[in-house]
Amino acid sequence: MTVIDDWKTLISNNGGQILKTVASHENLYADVEEIYKAGFERCFLNFFRPYGASYELEDIPALEHEYHRVIKDFHNLPDFTLTDVQMYQNTWREQQSNLYVPHCGINAMGIAVGPDGMIYPCDDAVMLGEEFVMGSVWDGVDKEKEKRLRRRLNKLPEKCGGCELKCYPCPVCSVLNTEELASDPKDWFCELRKMQYRVVNQYLPSNPFRVIK
Ligand code: SF4
Ligand code: SF4
Repeated sequence: MTVIDDWKTLISNNGGQILKTVASHENLYADVEEIYKAGFERCFLNFFRPYGASYELEDIPALEHEYHRVIKDFHNLPDFTLTDVQMYQNTWREQQSNLYVPHCGINAMGIAVGPDGMIYPCDDAVMLGEEFVMGSVWDGVDKEKEKRLRRRLNKLPEKCGGCELKCYPCPVCSVLNTEELASDPKDWFCELRKMQYRVVNQYLPSNPFRVIK
């Protein structure tokens, strides 16, 4: 088996998708091009987890420009999809219908196992320690604990209460970044969300709206 065959097998064994964290606009186009050429079928661009780095408000126009470029050139090629575009289009549609939009782990019944063998409600919660444990690999999930924890974590920041966009930030990420559950998102966060909706709404598919792959 050649190195390329190994690489392709690895990609396909992992669902054909890669998560790319976008920490800056500068390499976005070149990175997506490389991901496409490497043989991935799907890529999720995550603008919201640049691991400690936040954007300045003045960075957003350049990000918006590059986001358009990658969507125009790569999204929906016969063998390639930017799944963040689909997700933002779908959540926009759900928001318009006033449906609740869940976060990835906490409200989507996520389960993650930490290196200590403890079970947490999502992968990032593993970093938060004992308070977020809802079971262990030895005893399984404690259903009552899980219910209480998910209910407690299902909290909105005050700032989002009256906002019609309803693109709520994850309350647990907020603990990681500010040590407070569901703290108010910073302006750059809101502007970044608005930018993503602004961009993806220009590429809405006509029919069917939701593409399942
Ligand atoms: S902290 Fe939030 S965004 Fe991060 S994995 Fe958990 S639910 Fe998902
Ligand atoms: S734009 Fe900001 S305030 Fe409004 S829902 Fe989204 S994160 Fe909350």
